[in-house]
Amino acid sequence: MATMRLEIVTAERRVYSEDVDMLVAPGIDGQLGILPNHAPLLTALQPGEIRVDKDGEESYMAVSGGFLEVLSNRVTILADTAERAEEIDIERAEAAVRRAQERISSRASDRDLQRALMSLRRSQARLLAARRRRPRRDVGAPPHS
Ligand code: ATP
Repeated sequence: MATMRLEIVTAERRVYSEDVDMLVAPGIDGQLGILPNHAPLLTALQPGEIRVDKDGEESYMAVSGGFLEVLSNRVTILADTAERAEEIDIERAEAAVRRAQERISSRASDRDLQRALMSLRRSQARLLAARRRRPRRDVGAPPHS
């Protein structure tokens, strides 16, 4: 089966570097599904989760924004921040959600409100990705007796 290279990097570190079968990423205009041999593409990302399919298994990461480039069967994500699901500290993300919600409800300046909204989206993306960690059972119809 055809694969493509996926590299996810931040200014600080390489988060992911593998040959993968499929990728779904939070493009600025909506979810982007990318398969091997995709046409060249450059797009901004919004905070959200990245789903990767590799060898029949799904894995998840959180990304807070950045850029995604597809070129020559290689996908490069330059992320502001990115974490693999298993690296995410759920309590820290929950605390960040609470802090952001308090700041939003305290109706600070427009600038503070924008920052709180972005912080909320980052932390919610982390919680979403982290909670996918446990492999999900198939949720099809129950077997007939
Ligand atoms: P916090 O208020 O908890 O620091 P934040 O959204 O302000 O959250 P960022 O500035 O986006 O944090 O990220 C700072 C660094 O911490 C980055 O390297 C990011 O990957 C990491 N990080 C942030 N939140 C978490 C988390 N819940 N679990 C693991 N790493 C995290």
